[in-house]
Amino acid sequence: MPVAEKTNINILMVSLALQGHVNPMLNFAKRLVSKGVHVTIATTEEGRARMLKNTDQNLSDSGIRLEFFSDGLSIDFDRSDTKAVINSIRENGPKNLSNLIDNLKNQTFSCVIVNPFVPWAIDVAAKYHIPCAMLWIQASACYSIYYRYFKSTDVFPKLEDPNEKVHLPGLPTLEVRDLPSMILPSSPVQFKEVMAGLINGLDKVKWVLGASFCEIEEEIVKSLDSLTPIYNIGPLVSPSLLGEKETSNVSADMWNAEDSCIEWLNTKPNSSVIYISFGSLVVLSKKQMTNLATALKNSNNNFLWVVKPANNGGYASEDPAYELPKEFLEETEGRVLVVKWCAQTKVLQHPAVAGFISHCGWNSLLETLISGVPVIGYPSWSDQPTNAMLVENVFKNGVRIKVGEDGVGSVEEIERCVYEVVEGPNAAEFRKRALEIKESARKALQEGGSSSVNLNKFLGELTSKNDPSD
Ligand code: UDP
Repeated sequence: MPVAEKTNINILMVSLALQGHVNPMLNFAKRLVSKGVHVTIATTEEGRARMLKNTDQNLSDSGIRLEFFSDGLSIDFDRSDTKAVINSIRENGPKNLSNLIDNLKNQTFSCVIVNPFVPWAIDVAAKYHIPCAMLWIQASACYSIYYRYFKSTDVFPKLEDPNEKVHLPGLPTLEVRDLPSMILPSSPVQFKEVMAGLINGLDKVKWVLGASFCEIEEEIVKSLDSLTPIYNIGPLVSPSLLGEKETSNVSADMWNAEDSCIEWLNTKPNSSVIYISFGSLVVLSKKQMTNLATALKNSNNNFLWVVKPANNGGYASEDPAYELPKEFLEETEGRVLVVKWCAQTKVLQHPAVAGFISHCGWNSLLETLISGVPVIGYPSWSDQPTNAMLVENVFKNGVRIKVGEDGVGSVEEIERCVYEVVEGPNAAEFRKRALEIKESARKALQEGGSSSVNLNKFLGELTSKNDPSD
């Protein structure tokens, strides 16, 4: 990305310090910097040590500054207690973000871009009379579902029965189990309140920008035109996935990637490795892990598996699994590499990778779409079930593992899905589709492409807003 002339646009972004939340904000910030925009990313204090661990992040010359505010809890508070975190940040976030803005008084912000999970930041922007945009960091499909649910524009069935059918404009017929879990009765009420808060807060934001790209969710995006439209500017992925030079040395990686992955992948034949990762938060149960390990052992593939250790972020299930069974590692020696964290963007681009068993976090999926890798969806919660449905029924670049009431996929079901995507009669079609999507994602970002047009329009509106003669 060539860096354009500096503009007078100065943007403040606000996000929680979660890997899957900061990554799209930072990727957006890097794109903005390439257009001469100055960006400050404000995130919660507990992320400071992890985000600044490797570099001095000397931010003044890179166009991106990182700033931190407290969520009201001590640094060593166990943040897997999400209810406590949500309550504390809702209470303390507005005051602490305001203090931060006051301390940055030498800066005039043209716009605040909030992440959907800090809806109270919309009111902080209003207090300072700064125009506000929301960066929707999930699929447009989820935006549509939340919007229609909380604004009651559409009829939803009773959500107690996972098999009930849901009919919504722009989407294939869904089942309740395909909806984002945060609106389901089984989800803690705090999550639902956060989502309700952000949908209600939409009335106060001037732009809704999306990390997705129109071509992949065309009907869904069109169906929103008469509601509160979403302007997709993605895929918001790391510049390296687009073959572009980094415009900034700021990194948001919260764990150190193990370089051994790439060396190991280099020793494997093309399209022979299944990559397995459940993102930064999901922790598998022992049953889920055992079934997955057994199915992979029975397959003909090599596999690279990210297993996060205990006490390293994440929301543990009742019976969490933090390591693979010893016998499994012995029985699959030479075919498996287990790491605690990897450079996922590099892994997905490696020719040895044949498919990705993914929890279907939206960042992981966008990275997969831009890399042309077929997906085996194994969703857990939040937007992941909806994203896995998109993979199977809308994108058609992979399949979804069917799970029981306990969220566990059987060994046979996982074997079926791996076979389907890697070597079954439809495998070539999945690969073809994945490559077509890769192409359309790239086109969306090129000059004149849908995402590029939307981004320029947003910046144009910001510039005219900042023009003193306006
Ligand atoms: N990621 C990574 N290395 C890993 C696993 C994940 O760099 O070993 C990154 C991945 O590339 C993605 C992010 O962590 O950008 C996870 O975000 P996602 O939305 O997929 O899932 P979440 O962690 O929010 O559930």
